Amino acid sequence: MDKLNFLGKFKDPALERSFQKAKWPSVRFRLLFLYFVTIVTYLAGAYIDYVDLGSGSEFHTILLGRILTCLSGAAAFIVLLRNRVSLGTQYALMAICMFLVLVSESVKLSVKFAAIGSLSVPTTVFIVLAYYILLTPRILPPFFAALSGSVVYLYALSSVVPVASGTFVNSAIYILLANIFGGFFLYTFGRSLHREYAAMEDLKRMVAFDELTGVCSRRKFLEAGNCLFRSACRFENKLAVLVMDVDHFKRVNDEYGHHVGDIVLKEVTRRCVGVLREVDYMGRIGGEEFGVVLPYSSLHDAIRVAERLRQRVVERMFDVDGAYLAVSVSIGVAELKDHETFKSLIKDADEQLYAAKKGGRNLVCPTPYTVVDRIYKNGIYAD
Ligand code: GH3
Ligand code: MG
Ligand code: MG
Repeated sequence: MDKLNFLGKFKDPALERSFQKAKWPSVRFRLLFLYFVTIVTYLAGAYIDYVDLGSGSEFHTILLGRILTCLSGAAAFIVLLRNRVSLGTQYALMAICMFLVLVSESVKLSVKFAAIGSLSVPTTVFIVLAYYILLTPRILPPFFAALSGSVVYLYALSSVVPVASGTFVNSAIYILLANIFGGFFLYTFGRSLHREYAAMEDLKRMVAFDELTGVCSRRKFLEAGNCLFRSACRFENKLAVLVMDVDHFKRVNDEYGHHVGDIVLKEVTRRCVGVLREVDYMGRIGGEEFGVVLPYSSLHDAIRVAERLRQRVVERMFDVDGAYLAVSVSIGVAELKDHETFKSLIKDADEQLYAAKKGGRNLVCPTPYTVVDRIYKNGIYAD
């Protein structure tokens, strides 16, 4: 399904916002460059006007237009440098600056043509194209600014200046073509930037989340776990991990097929995620093996969570395609003590998982094993 609307933007406003935010640093750099070049060339152009016109009133009229344009460019440059206002305002300032450049070109055209017959259409075409090319991926501001600026320019060309109709049509075609090519480039390039961004986001999601169950992938789980582990060590916070494995899962696959096995895995995770807090991380670390990181949790807290997970899975039969399956999980628990790495903490929990399997499955087994022995002697957890 196409994620883009007819303007080439994402239909999802949140995705569009994150796209604009991600692209803003490069757009900002191009804008700064554009303003700088505009200011310098506009001021330098004043010298050419002086050479062409001398220091009379015509020169002063053009100079005024140039100064106003440079001031708007400088204001936009400073705002952009400080990066204080919203993206929308920045694009609006850019559109105003672009419009003023074209208005200033129109003033120059009227005055200079009357005085020395100079048209400067190529400069206008160049300016229009530069704005279109440098300002992707926002479409509307440069489009309206270029179009309205071009209309002002053509109006100046047709009414203020007594040019021959052939010259006017020629110039109008050039400016129209600059707008068509610029607009087409802006639209198609903007669309491909959006598509590329969407593909990158999909890729990131695929790397970070397990496709079948929707919980974190192994990579993301280890990454997040490492981060939480370092933070817990640094600030001496509590941290616990669980390693959970579906019991006799091979039998489910063998008896009912992989398709049913997949549905069971999805349902197991759905039930478990419902038990966990927002700050907990659950990841699929192997085929039917899951890890859970519990920040700010002691061994005691983690045992309670693990027991709730175990009960949530086992309490109701799994209704899969009309078949009722009894599914259970075994869980190993470990808390942060003097572990050097997150992986060593996981290894401890994994060893407890092995002990839970050996102990008969459908069990929670924390370190040290004696604790579980004491608390879960009859599979009943006492608060
Ligand atoms: P235990 O209680 O000792 O854990 O026994 P088990 O049968 O669950 O353990 P074992 O590791 O022998 O089997 C795990 C099975 O999980 C083997 C593999 O085919 C299956 N499996 C791994 N990933 C998937 C998956 O994505 N979908 C399905 N349907 N099965 C999977
Ligand atoms: Mg298993
Ligand atoms: Mg396993």
